[in-house]
Amino acid sequence: MGRMTHVLTALAWPYANGPRHIGHVAGFGVPADVFARYMRMRGHDVLMVSGTDEHGTPILVQADSEGLKPAEAAAKYNRIIVEDLDALGLSYDLFTRTTTGNHYKTVQELFSTLYGNGYILQQKTLGAISPSTGRTLPDRYIEGTCPHCGFDSARGDQCDNCGRQLDPTDLIDPKSRINGETPKFVEEDHFFLDLPAFADALNAWLDTRTGWRTNVVRFTKNLLDDLQPRPISRDLDWGVPIPLDGWADRRDKRLYVWFDAVIGYLSATIEWARRSGDPDAWQRWWRDPEAVSYYFMGKDNIVFHSEIWPAMLLGANGEGAKGGEPGGLGRLNLPTEVVSSEFLTMEGRQFSSSRRVVIYVRDFLERYSPDALRYYICAAGPENQDSDFTWAEFLRRNNDELVAGWGNLVNRSIAMAAKNFGAVPEPGELERVDRDLLEATRASFDAVGDLIGQNKVRAAIGEAMKTVAAANKYLADTAPWKMKEDPKRQGTVLFTVLQAVSDLKTVMSPFLPHSSQKVHELLGGEGVFAPMPRIEEVADLDEGGATDGPYPILTGDYSDVPKWESVPLVPGTPLDKPVPVFAKLDPSIVDEEIERLNS
Ligand SMILES: [Zn+2]
Repeated sequence: MGRMTHVLTALAWPYANGPRHIGHVAGFGVPADVFARYMRMRGHDVLMVSGTDEHGTPILVQADSEGLKPAEAAAKYNRIIVEDLDALGLSYDLFTRTTTGNHYKTVQELFSTLYGNGYILQQKTLGAISPSTGRTLPDRYIEGTCPHCGFDSARGDQCDNCGRQLDPTDLIDPKSRINGETPKFVEEDHFFLDLPAFADALNAWLDTRTGWRTNVVRFTKNLLDDLQPRPISRDLDWGVPIPLDGWADRRDKRLYVWFDAVIGYLSATIEWARRSGDPDAWQRWWRDPEAVSYYFMGKDNIVFHSEIWPAMLLGANGEGAKGGEPGGLGRLNLPTEVVSSEFLTMEGRQFSSSRRVVIYVRDFLERYSPDALRYYICAAGPENQDSDFTWAEFLRRNNDELVAGWGNLVNRSIAMAAKNFGAVPEPGELERVDRDLLEATRASFDAVGDLIGQNKVRAAIGEAMKTVAAANKYLADTAPWKMKEDPKRQGTVLFTVLQAVSDLKTVMSPFLPHSSQKVHELLGGEGVFAPMPRIEEVADLDEGGATDGPYPILTGDYSDVPKWESVPLVPGTPLDKPVPVFAKLDPSIVDEEIERLNS
């Protein structure tokens, strides 16, 4: 990717039925932000979008349990999630919601195009009714035993134990959760996405994908061997209405939550463009054939991004087996790359909100800095295999690597220069050892950047930390604190190490933006170095959605980011005694946190 291009960075949509735990941001939130920040520094026109996923049964169940209306519950958790992602410094251009009028319109537009092209089938299927009232029994009010894992309180649309999507008819011994009676199943019409009509087109498209993680390609190819029409409507009173005569006004039928949620990537881009004052600007990321799109998600979500969303786009473009014409939005780009992460476990256990094996992002950031968490995630996150978060490892990574490595380099070098020179010293002639260090820090731009570009964040930050170690070794070997009688050489050494620190603050900034901003200021820099998102209260752009009043979005101005390159330090720039960039943690936090987790 040599030239400037439009880069869509699309992050999976967190579900708004509770606060998010650190597993959610470890898999794709932070890695995607690293990618977006780096791409911006390389001069690309990046758009990073997502939002909260607010339809479907789990929202209704959560709202019931809190005595709230669904819209109130969704709004409550949308706000909490927005605040957490902001605190972590995730640089969204737009983080919105699936209950906006703009989203409803976009979803219905895509449905209508798919329907018009013949890719949505209307089929008879068995729906549940209550024998005593004769009314439709929504999926979430049916409970029974999961046919896959034997869990005895699986719901009619999914099993909370094994996570599989279900139909009410799949349940063994189904019962109404309202009055315990056995539901009666009657034939009803529902809509299905005709996935088999995309088998050839998906296969051909997958063959053109290079550089994908092998687990994603293998998984997707396997799926293509057995494509079935997939239901896209449900017996539900909370969701996007079906835009067809005779259906739009029905309160008991809605589009299935997954169908509307994947369209969020497109609707969020459109909303961003409309809010930016240039309503057609979304097309640069979706219709320009040179634009690229990277989708970030956990492994449980691969199917939606590598198979179903591409199938929906093919259908909307008229490019499946039944042909057709592009709809009102024109021909849309399929994903360039699907970047899936594995799972983060917690002290050897699966995260589980219900069993309280959980660390919420908010609780974490109340006690520790966002960059401490970001460092852990980048260095030890579940990139290629499941990884386990332990407090002992968090302590070790923070104290031995972040504080003793990068933080120590920054503070020692700036403190020595401030004490002895009060400024960035004027260097004399560089010796071999000085040139070697500066060559290493300059080389780290390419080495680290290439790895981030391939979404190898663990290796990328490892490479950056190797350069930090080289700079610390340089400081130990040259020992400028022993050069009191040779101020010229001392100035040269300190200049050299400060130049290395300056280069490294740039290299570190996609991973650790908060501390790179601090280092920038400690080196006498002014203004914004690593831009941060901000929360804005906005009103819905359109009628017809389900937001109840103004709501917060995450957005930001990232147009003025520094370039991904070494910038020469200016000798004479005043330096003050530095404040520590990172906090060393007391080992007692390990026991405290484990106790908190078990209490
Ligand atoms: Zn199950």
